[in-house]
Amino acid sequence: MGDDYVKVRVQLEQMRSFGEDAEKEEEEEEEEGADAEEQQQLPGSSPPHAPVSPDPSSVTIAGSDASSTSVTCKQRGKSRSRPGRDDKNSCGKHLQDLSLHGSAAHAGKNLNRLGHERTLHIRGTGKILQGKSETNGNYVSIHPSKNIPEVKLANKRRPVTVDTAKAKTSLEALKISIKQLKWKEFPLGRRAACDIYWHGVSFHDNENIVSGQVNKFPGMIEMLRKINMSRAVRTMQELFPEEYDFYPRSWILPEEYQQFSTQIRMVKENDATVNPTFIVKPDGGSQGDGIYLIRDPSDLKLMAGSQAKQGVVQEYIHKPLLIDKLKFDIRLYVLIKSLEPLEIYIAKEGLTRFCTEPYQEPSQKNLSHVFMHLTNYSLNVHSGNFVHSDSQNTGSKRTLSSVLYRLAAKGVDIKKVWSDIIALVIKTVIAVVPELKVYYQAEIPPGKPGPTCFQILGFDILLMKNLKPVLLEVNSNPSMRIEHEQEVAPGVYEYVPSPVDKEVKVGVIRDTLRLMDPKHENLSNQTPRAAGFEHGEEIPLEAEIQERSPDEAALPSLCLKQVYPKYTKQFNYLRLVERIASLFIRFLGVKGNMRLGPTAFRTFIRTCKLSNSNFTMASVDILYIDITRRWSGSTPDSREAGMGLQAFVEAFFHLAARRFKSLPMREQVASLLDLCEAQLEPQSGAEDRRSVSCSRALPRANKTQSLGLTNPQLNSPTPLRRAASQDYRLHQRLKPRSLRANVEN
Ligand code: ADP
Repeated sequence: MGDDYVKVRVQLEQMRSFGEDAEKEEEEEEEEGADAEEQQQLPGSSPPHAPVSPDPSSVTIAGSDASSTSVTCKQRGKSRSRPGRDDKNSCGKHLQDLSLHGSAAHAGKNLNRLGHERTLHIRGTGKILQGKSETNGNYVSIHPSKNIPEVKLANKRRPVTVDTAKAKTSLEALKISIKQLKWKEFPLGRRAACDIYWHGVSFHDNENIVSGQVNKFPGMIEMLRKINMSRAVRTMQELFPEEYDFYPRSWILPEEYQQFSTQIRMVKENDATVNPTFIVKPDGGSQGDGIYLIRDPSDLKLMAGSQAKQGVVQEYIHKPLLIDKLKFDIRLYVLIKSLEPLEIYIAKEGLTRFCTEPYQEPSQKNLSHVFMHLTNYSLNVHSGNFVHSDSQNTGSKRTLSSVLYRLAAKGVDIKKVWSDIIALVIKTVIAVVPELKVYYQAEIPPGKPGPTCFQILGFDILLMKNLKPVLLEVNSNPSMRIEHEQEVAPGVYEYVPSPVDKEVKVGVIRDTLRLMDPKHENLSNQTPRAAGFEHGEEIPLEAEIQERSPDEAALPSLCLKQVYPKYTKQFNYLRLVERIASLFIRFLGVKGNMRLGPTAFRTFIRTCKLSNSNFTMASVDILYIDITRRWSGSTPDSREAGMGLQAFVEAFFHLAARRFKSLPMREQVASLLDLCEAQLEPQSGAEDRRSVSCSRALPRANKTQSLGLTNPQLNSPTPLRRAASQDYRLHQRLKPRSLRANVEN
């Protein structure tokens, strides 16, 4: 642990105990808007029962037709500008129509709990979904967890302090959460350090934080933009095509326009009956802005004035699962509690957003129908058909559990759906973590005191007709608003409470805080059970037995469920790129740097003994120049010259292919990693004994680390690397059926 770091922490502790309430800072000017997308509807009271009809139409595709042309998605009554928000896309394949399988027996297993009443407990929300059999059909009612008692803190400990000055649109939900926890809010900020800083947009909302925890990771916004996300997933698809088939095929614009065009032309020439549709998304877009559908590459709008438009064009999932003939998507909240060790939690309750025009497969005529094809709340709220409902299981925005319940009632195996969703989330996080670690070390280099980070992400997921979940995008700033806008007079809008949003989002924020409680590690550090990951095991609709402290007893059980490291065994083998990132970070050299210079690249090659008479240092230089030049063209926003992580990964794949020609690709990469790590092993002994964490208030490494080559805290310690390597080998040998079933079914 660095001495400087220890001193700073001691000073901070002293400041905290003296300066508790000492200050009131100047007022912060707050401008809304940087937050994520939508908020919600639903005013009023709550009709307790809503019909759950096994209407077969709700899971069928309406109509089909085909022809071509593209039209831009226009429309938008009013749109707020929301900086910090980003996107990602989804995946797809031409799906086969699998009719909903299972039977009433599936549903019955979950439903028939209390005599003739069907009751689903929604873990962590304190809610009960109740379905009553009546002659005329089934009814579902939800008893919202209103009036959550505030925690009676048994001990008189100093309350956890939260700086909410930059919380922006999360503020309402955050205030309620802090109150429920009996923590202390600093709405105007505070001169002394707080335990937690809640930012509305990015890590940088407050500068110069040297301790505590911030609810944003550096680089998350950049990583989750559509282009970067597509690249990160594509890298994983190269290594693990089957595991990453949940993301639709995507091409990056403008650089891959030619490839896109040629590939589509060839597909059509091979089979004239194939007429796929594509969705075009601007890189920095959100809330459906600038999105349009096309059926021919020539319909792409590549230029905006004299500038090439940056974005992605993506396979359009043309057979989504429908409910009431409407397309819908799922908003799932995911907490990354820590990067190292990787800790991921999934909220058991989420939202579903419905289109407002009955779905038809894309055709020349309907390509421009945004209310049919795009599920964005921000668009559909302006449709005359938008249903504001107080109920959680009707209307154009509903809870995820109410939709799952509805599907279960039709015989859908929702346990399988849920476990597929968990797998999708873990794999997606694994895809973005390597680059996040690079951002983290650049922002808070070793020896520099800084906060640790956590972040709530919003996953947008589409269910295909065959029930396979597809990733549409990940939002770094999901809206945490618990009100929605209502037009009270023509052109005059005001915010009114939205019960559905409140129910879901307060739970997510409150329980995130509980997990991040600096004084209450045991909640989050429950030893992961050595659980199997077979579909059917994970479902958010069951009562959860959970040991809780007396303080916690007054609160509902956690609505966030740990999925990693819980499922380490099943997914650890996928973390190959993260190991490449560890090497990259180790050789970065200069603090705060995110790119490798030519000398550092040479040092990497030499240290890992990768050059020989067939691969001279001159060839190494050529490789460096070649790859770096290509990548510098494709990343116009690059802050510095040199080789970024994605370029380094490409170079690494190249080196692996040279060295282990006869092996399949991922074996090549794994073998080269083993080789490099073995070369570095003697040098990393010292650092392995130190703590590694990019997200916990643990000691940071000092300046005298091995090699003098940067941030060992971000490198997996040797035992972890070995474990990852062993997991990979084991996976290769065994390829367990249960894992493969997750993506293949
Ligand atoms: P934005 O960030 O602008 O909301 P998204 O990627 O979320 O962009 O796309 C907007 C909407 O378009 C999604 O909510 C979804 O309804 C639809 N959509 C996006 N990608 C696809 C796809 N590949 N296939 C089918 N529908 C899609």
